[in-house]
Amino acid sequence: MTPRPDLLARLALHTQQREQANLRRRLHTIDRVDGPWIERGGRRLLSFCSNDYLGLAQHPALVAALKQAADDDGVGSGSAHLIAGHRTAHAALEEALAEWTGRERAMLFSTGYMANLGVMQALLERGDLCVQDKLNHACLLDGAQLAGAELKRYPHADVEAAARQLAHRGDAPALLATDGVFSMDGDIAPLAELAALCRREGTTLMVDDAHGLGVLGARGEGAVPEAGLGADDVPVLMATLGKAVGCSGAFVAGSVALIDGLVQFARTYIYTTAMPPALAAATLAAVRLAQTETWRREKLRALIARFRHGAHELGLPLMPSATAIQPLLLGDAQAAMHAAASLERQGFLVTAIRPPTVPQGKSRLRITLSAMHEEGDVDRLLEALSRLPAGQPV
Ligand code: PMP
Repeated sequence: MTPRPDLLARLALHTQQREQANLRRRLHTIDRVDGPWIERGGRRLLSFCSNDYLGLAQHPALVAALKQAADDDGVGSGSAHLIAGHRTAHAALEEALAEWTGRERAMLFSTGYMANLGVMQALLERGDLCVQDKLNHACLLDGAQLAGAELKRYPHADVEAAARQLAHRGDAPALLATDGVFSMDGDIAPLAELAALCRREGTTLMVDDAHGLGVLGARGEGAVPEAGLGADDVPVLMATLGKAVGCSGAFVAGSVALIDGLVQFARTYIYTTAMPPALAAATLAAVRLAQTETWRREKLRALIARFRHGAHELGLPLMPSATAIQPLLLGDAQAAMHAAASLERQGFLVTAIRPPTVPQGKSRLRITLSAMHEEGDVDRLLEALSRLPAGQPV
């Protein structure tokens, strides 16, 4: 009898294969963060890889709100929302998020990953169709699979391909889910066209606006109002609180019926500990700043324009993005790794993104800009990019 394969041995083999393919992921410990600067291994680096797009994560108002709430209420929530974990700080934050996004109600989740799993698993039943952009975040794809839906992925931003996938569905209900801003490309989904398609096809549209909230829209309301759409067009809106809002966690916003249903059926909400209430208090302070300090969005927009202009002048391989995510497409995984290492030697932290996070041959430097940066920071990064060793695609 051949011995049964050992699971740990098989996992170790996969890890080894990743190493051999030069695609092993490495974990680094950051010792200190100071605005856009980080300290790692005794070195101070100017970071262009944070999702803290508005520079709120270290804002004194957030820190003060967190400290005050911890003094008043302690740290852990003690239980799930439905047991005794739902505090006034959570309720106040949910109300503010509903108002910000123009929805009847909002509901907190501990992470964006859990929010997407919970929504999909509550909305979709076995045999339902879920149509998704090929470049959607991993947790939207995982959510559809977890729900047992029939998952169809259309080529990136291809509305006609999405229409073809919906056309053949028969009587089954369908959900079309898309990132608002694509996390590795930075471009904005064709939301107006997708909304029109969903209206025609009687399909529910869900938008994950993790990278649009706070950055797009006059008050930072995100990609949906920026596209001229409202709650009727996008009945299921999800966004995270760990990016432009500078905190952690996520929320789903929509009608009373949607949120009532999620409270009953979203397992990643029901069976998990509520986020610390002090974090909810800090997040409420962050939401207020994200709405009112419009200079942060304006500064970020000016930095994006400055970077794109400079990169264009240098002939760098920009991607068509108008958001804080400004990747440079290098193609080869090794080229991306070498470029990131060379930038690090010059004092910059920029991450190389390789398969399987992005498709084969589409490795890139994922440069993210933030209102924390100054014009001079962007200029110095451009200078460093122009100095990358010859023979590399940038
Ligand atoms: N959706 C998108 C588009 C994301 O980029 C991310 C985070 N990288 C998530 C969801 C998951 O959010 P969280 O980090 O809060 O789990």
